[in-house]
Amino acid sequence: MNTGLIRDLTGLLGAGNVSTDQKHLNDYAGDALGDYRAFGAVHRLDARPAAIAWPTSTNDVSRVLKLANRLDVPVAPYGGGTGVMGAAVSSDGCIVLNLQRMDRVCRVSRRDMTIRAQAGVVLDTAAKALRSEGLLLGHDPWSRPIATVGGALSTNGVGYTAAKYGPMGDQALGLEAVLPDGEIVRTRDVPKRSYGPSLAHLLIGTEGTLGVITEATLRAFPQPERRILRAIEFSDFEAGFEAVVTMYAEGVQPTMLDYGEELWRDGESVESDATVYLAFEGFAEEAEAHDGRAVKICESMGGHPSGEGEAENFWRTRHAPGERYLRQVLQSGDVAGARRARSEYRMEYLHVALPVSRVLEYRRRCQELLRERRAIVREWSLWARPEMLSFLFLEEDDGGGQTSSDMGEVVDRTLTLAQDMGGTMEYCHGVGVKLAHLMERELGAGMSAVRRIKRALDPNNILNPGKQLG
Ligand SMILES: Cc1cc2nc3c(=O)[nH]c(=O)nc-3n(C[C@H](O)[C@H](O)[C@H](O)COP(=O)(O)OP(=O)(O)OC[C@H]3O[C@@H](n4cnc5c(N)ncnc54)[C@H](O)[C@@H]3O)c2cc1C
Repeated sequence: MNTGLIRDLTGLLGAGNVSTDQKHLNDYAGDALGDYRAFGAVHRLDARPAAIAWPTSTNDVSRVLKLANRLDVPVAPYGGGTGVMGAAVSSDGCIVLNLQRMDRVCRVSRRDMTIRAQAGVVLDTAAKALRSEGLLLGHDPWSRPIATVGGALSTNGVGYTAAKYGPMGDQALGLEAVLPDGEIVRTRDVPKRSYGPSLAHLLIGTEGTLGVITEATLRAFPQPERRILRAIEFSDFEAGFEAVVTMYAEGVQPTMLDYGEELWRDGESVESDATVYLAFEGFAEEAEAHDGRAVKICESMGGHPSGEGEAENFWRTRHAPGERYLRQVLQSGDVAGARRARSEYRMEYLHVALPVSRVLEYRRRCQELLRERRAIVREWSLWARPEMLSFLFLEEDDGGGQTSSDMGEVVDRTLTLAQDMGGTMEYCHGVGVKLAHLMERELGAGMSAVRRIKRALDPNNILNPGKQLG
């Protein structure tokens, strides 16, 4: 045990806010990335921190980072621990900087249409605080019941309502953060300025490698006067894709666009069901106008509205995976064990983005690649926009012939294909330890520029080493 570190941390934060208890070290060493889906980075999941530190103020965060620099100890910022890329996993001997006790909603302003919240506020809590003032949070992921404001900003996550309100990064007006050397910085709570670079955007999506977000002012939107929900079925993925592309081409603005083709085997044949779930929100005339045009477009492309209640059920249960994770993992009493058990389900779920004109070609080439490698695709889907394509696949159950490392190679091939076709390997979850090895390929010469920014801000490489920025 690093006794000097523990003594100094306890001196800074108080004994009740520092732990070296084995259970805490195990629980907070990892996030929602399980062994199976970590592939080449699986060894990173064995690392154990030296201590868990719970700061309760921005000054605490600053003091911990200064100490970490002085003692040359890495720091892993930690929100809800629900990231699926291993961005919050520990390095051996690190401090886990757990933001969960910075969980105060500081202010809701109806006039400014904003919420100011500390980084550890869970998204659901922020959404409820806004709802009581007639306002709405624009970021609404599956993980709304479990992810934090700081974690969602740091991964620039995508949620159900991103079609209208954009990803989490778009919700940020102003940030307070602590830079790796302990300096506290604040950006202004206004939607627009005419100079750059944007300090806030150095922190959004960089997975805690360039600073620790401590507070954020987020935009809020009016609770809609009217919400119309639709489920429309198509004969195959391509037909629904064309309908989605046409909606966007004609300026239809859904709040939610979730289009998925599910595939399953029935004896020798493969059955499928392709359904687009749509929500239109706003004042009544607006929602009705967008809905009317969308239905017309879908019907002209062979779509059939589904039975009553299907879209409502989809909307009502949209956070079920997050609620399940809360019950089965975070509230299980053995977070590390429950996480491990979950990863026994051997499937992969990837999220690439490409120019609209290349999506179907990508899907076709990817299908060939997956068929060649005997992977079974269970779902192709679009989230929020036609550019954003996700797919879920499994290993063929052939008596144990394939291994996780085979699947790791298949994953890399599908993601590098997206890069080679002008797209990005990940639009939703960040990079973490899982995809760090593909960053250089994705950014090209830009990688050396971002590494220089990292070195300038974090010369001792304290914050989240070995992840997104190398
Ligand atoms: C069941 C389930 C469903 C999910 N659904 C979605 C979804 O619909 N959409 C989506 O985008 N994601 C989804 N995710 C992934 C995950 O919820 C998101 O990535 C989320 O934004 C992570 O938030 P967190 O608070 O758990 O962050 P963590 O996992 O704790 O951390 C994520 C990254 O941010 C860094 N970090 C955390 N807090 C801070 C801070 N204050 N300052 C700086 N860096 C920080 C960490 O070091 C790490 O790099 C899902 C995950 C699960 C388990």
